[in-house]
Amino acid sequence: MHIREMLADAERTHAPSFSFEYFPPKTAQGVQNLYDRIERMYNFGPKFIDITWGAGGRIAELTCEMVVQAQTYFGLETCMHLTCTDMGEDKVNDALRKAYKAGCTNILALRGDPPREKEKWQATDDGFRYAKDLVAHIKRNYGDHFDIGVAGYPEGCDDNRDEELLLDHLKEKVDTGASFIVTQMFYDVDNFLRWVDKVRARGITIPIIPGIMPIATYASFVRRANHMNCKIPEDWMAKLEPIKNDDVAVREIGKTLVADMCRKILAAGIRHLHFYTMNLAQATRMVLEELDWMPSPNRPLKQALPWKQSLGLG
Ligand code: FAD
Repeated sequence: MHIREMLADAERTHAPSFSFEYFPPKTAQGVQNLYDRIERMYNFGPKFIDITWGAGGRIAELTCEMVVQAQTYFGLETCMHLTCTDMGEDKVNDALRKAYKAGCTNILALRGDPPREKEKWQATDDGFRYAKDLVAHIKRNYGDHFDIGVAGYPEGCDDNRDEELLLDHLKEKVDTGASFIVTQMFYDVDNFLRWVDKVRARGITIPIIPGIMPIATYASFVRRANHMNCKIPEDWMAKLEPIKNDDVAVREIGKTLVADMCRKILAAGIRHLHFYTMNLAQATRMVLEELDWMPSPNRPLKQALPWKQSLGLG
């Protein structure tokens, strides 16, 4: 199912919905652990999951393998990230073919981070330069089979802090054929809502999915926010800094702060939230519990895992 249809459904029914993002782990054991976790987190009720794209060889292959596993074995609607980093046209076509064969119908088209060993991003000789080139290529070759999402940056992107220019480039991506936007993580909701108004003022009408990063530990919270140049509201620091060495207390306060942030976004009329799980369950589960969104007898999971249903366990 296309993500735009799932979002339209949430809009029609006024029912909030959410999705989870995972990245390919580095070791075989890590992959197995993650599959177990994805299966457990299926029971939290995500509408779909994203698998990120890692530049180069094995990690890129693993993205495709994980999409196949999630889509065909778990029966989870999956959105595959695809980037231009170190990708000639043949490699892009190969990844799209694998996603197509797995029954995946959603792609997040990105320019990509620079590879680890390089500071600056460079296009390969026969590759694409910008995310919009990838959007155009997917549209040209697959028509409407894939629903295509693109990235949005309420607080600027790592190699461009110019908001107006980034909005120009976002508009280009949308005009080329994207049908939803997923944002970089942020904690400053007022700024996010101001940015949404600016996006709308540009005539961009497709859904905007805010990217939410739950708080697992103080160190990882600060590290990621700094890495993404993401502003942390002063009152958040005032609450978290004094308890920074107590992980349990940080998660407790963190879940309240993040859930409040989610409520404010929902109150502004946005119905779908995307959680950056960092491949872990606990911090995301705590936020969902705080929002009262976890399945329960009053809020049953709509669908059991297909293989469990076939064994009569669902
Ligand atoms: P683009 O929109 O192509 O922009 C890249 C740069 O080029 C920007 O500075 C932009 O302003 C500029 N630009 C765009 N169009 C033009 C133009 N016509 N003329 C001149 N300049 C232009 N990275 C990964 O490697 N793997 C992932 O799985 C991944 N997932 C992500 C998911 C989300 C939701 C987000 C927000 C980011 C993700 N990233 C991922 C990071 C992303 O790849 C980087 O932020 C990257 O630097 C920009 O990607 P983009 O798709 O926004 O690029």
